Amino acid sequence: MYTNDLVWLPQFIYNRPVYRRKTRQIQVGNVKVGGDASVSVQSMTAGYTHDIDACIAEINRLTKAGADIVRVAVPERKDTAALTEILSQVSVPIVADVHFHFKRALEAIEAGVQKIRLNPGNIGDREQVNAVIDSCKDANIPIRIGVNEGSVVERKDKQKRQAELASFFADRKQGHLLAMMIAKVEEYLDIFESRDFQNICLSAKLMDARLVIDMYQELSKRFDYPLHLGVTHAGPRETGSIRSIAALGSLLSQGIGDTIRISYASDTVFEVEDGIELLNSLDLRTRIGAELIACPSCGRIQVDLFELVDNVRAQLENEIDVPIKVAVMGCVVNGPGEAEGADVAVFAGDRKGIIYVQGERVANVKEDEILDRLLVECKALQDRVRRGETKLGDKAVTIVAPLTVEGNTT
Ligand code: SF4
Repeated sequence: MYTNDLVWLPQFIYNRPVYRRKTRQIQVGNVKVGGDASVSVQSMTAGYTHDIDACIAEINRLTKAGADIVRVAVPERKDTAALTEILSQVSVPIVADVHFHFKRALEAIEAGVQKIRLNPGNIGDREQVNAVIDSCKDANIPIRIGVNEGSVVERKDKQKRQAELASFFADRKQGHLLAMMIAKVEEYLDIFESRDFQNICLSAKLMDARLVIDMYQELSKRFDYPLHLGVTHAGPRETGSIRSIAALGSLLSQGIGDTIRISYASDTVFEVEDGIELLNSLDLRTRIGAELIACPSCGRIQVDLFELVDNVRAQLENEIDVPIKVAVMGCVVNGPGEAEGADVAVFAGDRKGIIYVQGERVANVKEDEILDRLLVECKALQDRVRRGETKLGDKAVTIVAPLTVEGNTT
């Protein structure tokens, strides 16, 4: 289990190699995690699993948003009892999240879930953990060993926990806590490996972005099991996104991480959307659908840019499913340079929009016609791409500004 060999595996996205830390590969239903597989995006349902219709609806919404894997909590017998029906009506692999009651894991495996998430530390009896391991082995499904900062010490003894936590943080935030979590991971791995079970994924989540980076860098050095990245209790989307992207973006850009879950105290679809956008931004996933870039606006703005951008984004989401890069720029000062490389671009000018497609100027329309015309051009380009008549990003787009304006910003 222990490895000092940092092996990097190229993965080709847009025909360019992206180097990722080599890990073992596991299979979660039809989704490969680790090895040369693409980084997958997960989420977890926020509603009750035993509320079958609502749970299925939420899983299907997450699937539609692009989730590769969805986890559900199964705290009670009525939750695992719902799994057979749920599994029959969803298309993504389902992970059963088990705490405290090993029988819930056995019931979930019996129902046919594709993976179990387990924190061995909160299942009191080693034999019970062994029973789950053996059952997963028989079913040939993986287990994620999930250690969270809140569960590394015995929760039943709160005073002891407080004293321990105080000592962890006495001389800053790293040190003891990280050491203790790593020790827990090693301790749990010993249990699994002693039963010759290596169909494993690891996570060790904290809420502090810097600590999450430190933790996973350390896990990556020590173990070659695939890593599930996440920031625990990250908060609402507004702040949780910053915390999550800071940690996960840093790790992924170092080649660390095989599957991710961004977690928000908010609609779970946002977790999936933001996870996918993070992977797209780092070229770790081939984009499906349009990519919108837009200037931030400034005192040179010549149209109502924010409203235009909102409307363009909504329309592109509905109408475009090839990765056209679309630029919406508020003027012609910096716009052309910043839109270079875009397949379709509009530059505002004096309550007008000058529209370019693959570097060619195709229209000059009034402000209230920009949205419709831009969409017409995007759809026409999409059709040409689908017919194989052109390739996106193929033409070097060098746009010469139609006006010369003094000034510079952005
Ligand atoms: S100068 Fe830049 S930020 Fe300002 S309106 Fe033009 S493109 Fe937008």
